[in-house]
Amino acid sequence: MDKISNKETYLESISNRDLKIYLMGELVKDPLTHPIIKPSIEAMAETYDLAVKEPELATAKSPYTGEYINRFLHIAENNEDLFLQNKMQRKLGQLTGTCFQRCVGMDAFNALHSVTFEIDEKYKTNYHDNFIKFLTEMHKYNLVIGGAMTDVKGDRSKLPHEQEDEDLYLRIVDRNEKGVYVKGAKAHQTGCINSHWMVVMPTLRLSENDKDYAIVGAIPVDAEGITYIYGRQSCDTRSMEPGEYDVGNKYFAGQEAMVIFDNVFIPNEYIFMNGEYDYAAMLVERFTTYHRRSYVCKAGVGDVLIGAAATIAEYNGVENASHIKDKIVEMNKLNETIYATGIASSLQGSETKSGNYMNDDLLANVCKQHVTKETYEIGRLAQDLAGGLVGSMPSGVDFNEGEMSEDLKKYLKGKDDINAEDRVKILRLIENMTLGRNAVAYLTESMHGAGSPQAQRVQISRKVDIEQKKDFAKKLSGVKERD
Ligand code: SF4
Ligand code: FE
Repeated sequence: MDKISNKETYLESISNRDLKIYLMGELVKDPLTHPIIKPSIEAMAETYDLAVKEPELATAKSPYTGEYINRFLHIAENNEDLFLQNKMQRKLGQLTGTCFQRCVGMDAFNALHSVTFEIDEKYKTNYHDNFIKFLTEMHKYNLVIGGAMTDVKGDRSKLPHEQEDEDLYLRIVDRNEKGVYVKGAKAHQTGCINSHWMVVMPTLRLSENDKDYAIVGAIPVDAEGITYIYGRQSCDTRSMEPGEYDVGNKYFAGQEAMVIFDNVFIPNEYIFMNGEYDYAAMLVERFTTYHRRSYVCKAGVGDVLIGAAATIAEYNGVENASHIKDKIVEMNKLNETIYATGIASSLQGSETKSGNYMNDDLLANVCKQHVTKETYEIGRLAQDLAGGLVGSMPSGVDFNEGEMSEDLKKYLKGKDDINAEDRVKILRLIENMTLGRNAVAYLTESMHGAGSPQAQRVQISRKVDIEQKKDFAKKLSGVKERD
């Protein structure tokens, strides 16, 4: 295989693979041409395209091969690197209007860089070496790494080993001198089918009895024993309709799938944790620290939605009304809050023991907490500006081809110089991002990706030094220290 250098060679690299993918009860013959899957592949491909068009933003020099690689494969060597990840994520959000799927892997291996180093330090294991060799291989070919963390979890009040069904968290079911076999399922895996490799990781703090669940390893996505069941999303079959009139976003969509592992083999050289249950929490925490500020992607997607809302206001002839202008200001304020907290986290990063950089954890959690709320408020305002038509438009077939087409074009017009077609297209985009297929990328992922809202509140409460704040107040108010 040659090094992937652009969108075309990426598409080539994922064609003719033998992946077992089910979608609506059928085995998918070719994901690249499947109308529901294709827009997600196109979104991933944009990460390669941006590297060609804006190399200073979307590439970096590999310390392992000495060559330029996609920034999504780069280990952050300073705060500037962390910040550039965010800039690139916002840009890709603007270009695609959806989830471009490549950040999970980036955040996973940035977390693993330091965690494998620290496990080795304590247990004299060889994981960091394994990991660097793996990463070097990925750099050599400029591949896509997916991260697979979220287990299906069963009874949420119980640890993995306490579950009635032992497979509800991915676990080792067999071992030999060459490696381990794993079984279980990972839920809502972003971009897994569009990746080359995936890294499986535990999803929560583990106990001594959960040693078999403390497994981190890299697996090619077409390894034997893996099955993908493609996630059904709102309005996804619109891209199977002739004309694709009602898709809203004409080019791009995200991708979520369930992955079932049925005795999948991981050779020793691709294992980065094997039984060190006491490091599972550290890995989860570091991964989420990186990933929660990666959600500045939503500021880029938000730019698209704000643009759509402002456009429809213009088409409706109300762009100069003061309350409309104020709503656009509010949308921008909320959107920039997401970006500001994300880049603040990156710019306040610090060096880990292994020498890479990790962003600030408190601010990363504040960023993601904003993402869980502000996107919904921006979506609400976009629907406000769109008007009721966003939920009542006739189908594209009626509008474009049907007997009533001319009437619909006459009656669905906005202000004089704007034709009805353009007005309907913008409304379909707002529908797509707030109610349709890409509402998963803009809203549901904002809510639950990288951990649901309560997970961030727990972290915020842990990271804030409340005693110090009390001291500030006591000092200024003259309250005396008690013994
Ligand atoms: Fe990246 Fe955002 Fe998609 Fe997560 S939701 S993979 S951060 S684009
Ligand atoms: Fe996500």
